[in-house]
Amino acid sequence: MTRTLLVAALFLGGCGTTLTVVSDPSEPPVVAICKTPAERAARPAPMVAGTPVGRIPTTAPPGFPAGTIGRSVNGEPIVATDFGSGPARVYLIGLIHGSETPGLEALPALQPTLAHEADAWGATVRVVANMNPDGHARKRRGNARGVDLNRNWPASNFRPSRSWGREPASEPEVAAVLADMRSFRPDVLIVFHSISRGGPFVNFDGPHPAPRLAAAFADAARAAGGGDWTVVPDMGYPTPGSLGTWAGIDSGIPTLTIEFESRHPHDAAARATIAGVRGVLRAMDGPDTVRAEERSP
Ligand SMILES: [Zn+2]
Repeated sequence: MTRTLLVAALFLGGCGTTLTVVSDPSEPPVVAICKTPAERAARPAPMVAGTPVGRIPTTAPPGFPAGTIGRSVNGEPIVATDFGSGPARVYLIGLIHGSETPGLEALPALQPTLAHEADAWGATVRVVANMNPDGHARKRRGNARGVDLNRNWPASNFRPSRSWGREPASEPEVAAVLADMRSFRPDVLIVFHSISRGGPFVNFDGPHPAPRLAAAFADAARAAGGGDWTVVPDMGYPTPGSLGTWAGIDSGIPTLTIEFESRHPHDAAARATIAGVRGVLRAMDGPDTVRAEERSP
């Protein structure tokens, strides 16, 4: 895996190489970041429990490291793919609620962009396209046991129940992603959902720069013709045991919850996803971004 990363990094442009972002002429050329030895040493750990599978089915460009980080209740693989090897660490989940598919469906459009640009933005972007394959197959919100995977995290406000799980991370999908995130130590977490009313919007949890990054996603997505995106700081209802609470509020990882419209037009969702993620990567260079290695464990 290390070798593949190195080859990918060399292919995409070595230290100090000027890369022109060809897929969007409106973007200025960006320069690959020269990493210090300390930054190189702080490169994210490899995926845990990883059985390399080569690449994500059908969507990832060849040559990028991918691995199975766990299995669903029904034994389906949960696959993570890394793009870039820069010091800024972004963890992106394309689907957590099985019936909320616009973000997952936009990923094939996003991944070539990440392949070309992640290193140029100084980022390592880990994409878990689908963390709820059983719910997705059944077009249901929860997993195969009917548990809501966005209520099953070890957050301070977790509440056991039949539909939220008997204990935190009781569901194998949550346990897999939780272990992988603890290993990867993201600076920013982006999770895709969809909502029947009020979307599209970006909700956020956690410390600065979460509000700024939420605005960066929404502004870029709107400017790209991806929909009338806004920022909504509060969902307006309690979310015990949610990923946003565990990651954002309890663990201090700025977390963006991206709410597409339930029937977001596919082209607009793809435009919003590409522009929004680019906006976040650009904004992560701001002065209030605290890297994982700077936070207390
Ligand atoms: Zn959702």
